[in-house]
Amino acid sequence: MIRSTVARVDLGALRRNFRAIREFLGSGAAAGALATGHPPSIVAVVKANAYGHGAEAVALALEAEGARLLACADIEEGIVLRRAGVRAPILVFGALSVSDLDGLFEFSLTPTISTPSAARAVEAAAARRGVTTGYHLKIDTGMNRLGFRHDNLRRTLPELLASPHLRLDAVYTHFASADDPERTLFTDQREHFEAATRVVAELGAPGVPRHASNSAALLRDSRVWYDMVRPGLLLYGIVPPPMASTLPLEPVMSLTSRVVAVKGLRPGEGVGYGWRFTAAEPRTIAVVPAGYADGLDTRLSGRGAVLVRGVRAPIVGAVSMDMITVDVSDVPDVTPGDEVVLLGRQGPESWQQIDAREMAASIGTIPWEVVCRLGTRVERQYATS
Ligand SMILES: *Cc1c(COP(=O)(O)O)cnc(C)c1O
Repeated sequence: MIRSTVARVDLGALRRNFRAIREFLGSGAAAGALATGHPPSIVAVVKANAYGHGAEAVALALEAEGARLLACADIEEGIVLRRAGVRAPILVFGALSVSDLDGLFEFSLTPTISTPSAARAVEAAAARRGVTTGYHLKIDTGMNRLGFRHDNLRRTLPELLASPHLRLDAVYTHFASADDPERTLFTDQREHFEAATRVVAELGAPGVPRHASNSAALLRDSRVWYDMVRPGLLLYGIVPPPMASTLPLEPVMSLTSRVVAVKGLRPGEGVGYGWRFTAAEPRTIAVVPAGYADGLDTRLSGRGAVLVRGVRAPIVGAVSMDMITVDVSDVPDVTPGDEVVLLGRQGPESWQQIDAREMAASIGTIPWEVVCRLGTRVERQYATS
């Protein structure tokens, strides 16, 4: 390791999170909460480089923990997983562009079919190869992004269902507002999905497995667990805001750096670009070699904090490309080389912790973005606790 700024990814915590989710689903099933009577299986979502954690190591750890289906955003992400040695089925969530379909077959990826034209393209490609390929059908129940509209399936589906080289393995939808209990949209989408799956059955494909739940929906309503659930954020130990959860989850990623310099500001002096912070009285500033090129949001200036010597110290002055500056006037004896925690724990007390939810809230964004945007130059160090 050369740089001071590193992301530690605890594959043990990841595996325990997967297990905690599985147990939660099992206890829901045991409580008789489910129409299916059996716990749903887990589609482990590892898109976007496993939410910034590193797709290869994360996918292999989840596969070892028993994940029987992984999901990524596009064919290129799926190929990365296959090259890393993942053998479990891999579902591609995103839209397929016609040019890259070969990857589906060469790397045994399972496509989502969400438009009639994609259906025709995959059918033609499978026919050319003389193979039958399984797919998941995506229904748009109100998000108005990808998927066959729920309300005209009788017109759009028969051609797809008659495709001789395509096998319908599952049908799914995605919720637009699972994290917002005040909205009726969630209930509307659930009802549209259930009606849509009845139409799929009537059109000649009965008993196809169904899935719909992201992390928020999974926490919120066991009625939408169906046959499979698709947690992403929860696997990484983060509960989608504003929800609360009793699941024993642990953050998988921590982000740390080290103080490289300490200096004094005299009254009236400022620090960094634009002197966005000026000292009214003498202040002590620590310079930390992590900036927006490492994925730290520029809005952390004047809003975020780090932990140094077990104390929360505010980020002051502009976040620059490669550095931030921290006001450590209230932290005794800060010295170059001291560990700086940007995300994670320092010290034994629970308040000595900054998590992705806190960081996201302090700058008005969402925790998914905080972890996904972690820079490529930040080394991921894998450990298993
Ligand atoms: C990203 C994604 C998920 C996982 O969402 P989380 O909120 O991170 O749990 C599930 N399903 C689909 C289709 C997705 O794109």
